[in-house]
Amino acid sequence: MSKEVRSSEHAEAPIQTHEIRDVQQTTCIVVGAGPAGTVLSFMLARQGIDVLLLESHMDFDRDFRGDTLHPSILEVMDELGLADRLLQLPHTEMSLVAPPAAAGSGLQFDLHDLKTKFPYIAMMPQARFLAFITSEAQRFPSYRLIMGARVEELIEEDGQVRGVRYRAQDGWHEVRALLVVGTDGRFSRLRKLAGFEPIASSPPMDVLWLRLSRKPDDPHGLVGRIGRGRALICLEREDHWQIGYVIGKGTYQQVRAAGLEALRQAIAETAPEFADRVAELADWKQVSMLSVEANRLPRWYRPGLLLLGDAAHVMSPAGGNGINYAVMDAVAAANLLTAPLQAGRVTVADLARVQRRRELPTRVIQAIVNLMQNSLLKAALDPNGSFTFPSFLGWPLVRKLPPLLFGFGIRPEHVQQKEQQRPTWSPGGTWIAGTIMVLALIWIIRRLTRRL
Ligand SMILES: Cc1cc2nc3c(=O)[nH]c(=O)nc-3n(C[C@H](O)[C@H](O)[C@H](O)COP(=O)(O)OP(=O)(O)OC[C@H]3O[C@@H](n4cnc5c(N)ncnc54)[C@H](O)[C@@H]3O)c2cc1C
Repeated sequence: MSKEVRSSEHAEAPIQTHEIRDVQQTTCIVVGAGPAGTVLSFMLARQGIDVLLLESHMDFDRDFRGDTLHPSILEVMDELGLADRLLQLPHTEMSLVAPPAAAGSGLQFDLHDLKTKFPYIAMMPQARFLAFITSEAQRFPSYRLIMGARVEELIEEDGQVRGVRYRAQDGWHEVRALLVVGTDGRFSRLRKLAGFEPIASSPPMDVLWLRLSRKPDDPHGLVGRIGRGRALICLEREDHWQIGYVIGKGTYQQVRAAGLEALRQAIAETAPEFADRVAELADWKQVSMLSVEANRLPRWYRPGLLLLGDAAHVMSPAGGNGINYAVMDAVAAANLLTAPLQAGRVTVADLARVQRRRELPTRVIQAIVNLMQNSLLKAALDPNGSFTFPSFLGWPLVRKLPPLLFGFGIRPEHVQQKEQQRPTWSPGGTWIAGTIMVLALIWIIRRLTRRL
């Protein structure tokens, strides 16, 4: 079938002709199988809603992505009946969080103080988490995942988004649906196609991610180090340390020009406990640069389209809450949209409800992280400035707040759906129903025969 296809009226507006191989129909299309997209599709399919999840990559492999599963996510996994199986997969549990401080002078927060079944952050490669959720979702007949499907166009009719066109290895495909949800990340194609402009708050930093080996008598958890105008975040992983070396915004080329030896030295001086292994860093290929961004959309939806997760709000990694907020968005959307999707009518008011539910928590946490970055990290990254943590952070009541905020974020979501029960035969149930029917029959016969 050959068709003329016009991109969204808001896009760069090229008019192209594609060979569309097929046109499919579903109830909800979810674009992007990151944490938000996979959890949302799982939850909708669990309710018997037809969901098509489209992912542009052929696999989930990502290096140095967020690998943190917060207590709030683990509670959701538990509510979905997935936590036990998830936590059987290899992971580490991080309870101690030391915010950046000079070596030896650390303030430490303990997540064990949290009142939850999961008082820790599970560190699990994101690819493993996503593969787990998608494989669990396969048990629902209404769930479909297509890997290698890059969504490039929105289908719009009468001001309403009605579906998408995606490119796969075998060519172009079209899918129509009641609702399209864009969970396609920080460079969201759908956000662009919809003509949405995020409000950016540019944090004063970028991060270089790298790995160093772990030794048996190393400390545990998350360790932050600050000194001489440098900051390091060290995350304990299964067999290594994931190190985030914080640099001033836009200074990567300067750091590179200074050479690898200067980087090794800087790490060793800031975190002397790693001085014995910085030599493992032998090539710039071992270093990944993350350009730190933070932004939010003023509006997350249009008729027929909703954006969630990083597509709606990129969270700075300084707060370590990108995955948490992406998953919480998914849970809120599933809670609020299950009934409209089942009823076959999703209104703009339904979509607005999702944004209303999630916007405030997002804005509050972004404001807190901004404050932290702009004051603490800026001071920490100034080689001429002296950096000390405000002493009130050590006060007994105050020190309970960061674990709560870090572990759960603002207004953590909970699953409000019940898994759809397919009618199943149960010997007990059948026996009870049978007895009731026989008794009812006897009662009716006796009433009738009394009149004879
Ligand atoms: C280097 C790095 C380190 C990070 N560290 C942390 C951390 O420690 N803790 C934390 O909480 N967060 C961290 N984050 C942020 C975290 O990874 C994100 O906030 C989170 O993954 C957002 O989830 P999401 O589902 O919204 O989007 P994403 O995880 O970005 O998923 C989007 C998905 O959409 C797919 N996609 C994109 N375009 C299309 C398209 N056109 N068609 C189909 N599919 C498409 C992508 O391939 C991807 O799989 C980090 C991010 C980076 C880059």
